[in-house]
Amino acid sequence: MTQTVLVINSGSSSIKYQLINPETGDAIAKGIVERIGEELGEITHTYAGDVTSEERAIPDHEVGMREVLRLFDEKGPALSTAGIVAVGHRVVQGGKYFAGPALITDEVRNLIEQLCPMAPLHNPAHLKGIDVARDLMSDIPHVAVFDTAFFQQLPAKTSTYALNAQVAETYAVRRYGAHGTSHQFISGEVAKFLGRDDLKQIVMHLGNGASVSAVKNGQPIDTSMGLTPLEGLVMGTRTGDIDPAVVFHLARQGGMSIDEIDHLFNKESGMKGLTGETDMRSVWKLIHNDEDHETQAKARVAMDIYINRLLKYVGSYTAELGGLDVITFTAGIGENDWNVRRELAEALAPFGVKIDLEKNDGRIGEPRIISTPDSSVLLLVYPTNEELAIAQQALTLL
Ligand code: AMP
Repeated sequence: MTQTVLVINSGSSSIKYQLINPETGDAIAKGIVERIGEELGEITHTYAGDVTSEERAIPDHEVGMREVLRLFDEKGPALSTAGIVAVGHRVVQGGKYFAGPALITDEVRNLIEQLCPMAPLHNPAHLKGIDVARDLMSDIPHVAVFDTAFFQQLPAKTSTYALNAQVAETYAVRRYGAHGTSHQFISGEVAKFLGRDDLKQIVMHLGNGASVSAVKNGQPIDTSMGLTPLEGLVMGTRTGDIDPAVVFHLARQGGMSIDEIDHLFNKESGMKGLTGETDMRSVWKLIHNDEDHETQAKARVAMDIYINRLLKYVGSYTAELGGLDVITFTAGIGENDWNVRRELAEALAPFGVKIDLEKNDGRIGEPRIISTPDSSVLLLVYPTNEELAIAQQALTLL
């Protein structure tokens, strides 16, 4: 019988799930429970081309998970005959404990709980999903796959801040990275796609959250996210790199609390803070709107900041890698926004990077090379698939 993995990504008010065949990569069924805890929640389940959408109150994750199981029962495929060999749970923060996927025992569950202060928005939400799913599907092994695991291999020189060593040790302050499941998946797929293991790669995971990594011969050597996903690139709502003294300044001069600054940096900054828009498509609309020159100019500057940040990382990572073979673009912006790819490639033109504009245009959803044959660096678009990566990693433990 076909072996499948049920992948669960439990957020604070949502549960996303996919039933995956890890061998073929096919998503057999998928869905999302949204607005858990609100007056009216919604659950959408897709199987064999049929989409079922229902609105009802979903007071907590247990009810949400029961609804998922009910829809599998009613709309298919029946889980009892779907060949499920594991449930794979996405977990954002694995701290220093997890350098790979882990079979969820009570001990592992408690370690994920211990790490909640390091990921206060994510780990508690994952735990709700894990606890309920372990309860309701107790006869199937559950595996946690951590966003930070890949970057546990970072060398000390890029995982360590130049912070007082004792303070760093006491509070477990180091660079953990994030999006590691995607960076690991993409860098591995690119090596297969090009038929080479000895690659100096830059992987750009550009979504609403965005990060870039440098991978040499399959090993990560640097990444842009740090203790938390706030560090690094300009994002939909996050500042990315910023002088930490801005925090002192806003606290002292602006009388802002730590929670207010946390919210400002994580939720009200980045493209949203610069333009009022989070989505790149909306930012481009502002840039192309000739009727409102002031808004247009602001949006253009925001895009320049965004592209310039990418450029700085390409420069520094090329130096760290000792050269560069390939830049791969992935996630919502990386896969779909050909203007971002074009502007970055044009900024790299002095280094012999050449983009093929025809290949770059359009959204095909397939892995493809978008540089010209004589480009000094290969440019690739490669769709990420974190659910498949989680399913494949879960399978390695069985
Ligand atoms: P993700 O977090 O990977 O789901 O990416 C979501 C982001 O991708 C959105 O906020 C948009 O900024 C961006 N995005 C999605 N589709 C497009 C598109 N067709 N063109 C430009 N940006 C897009």
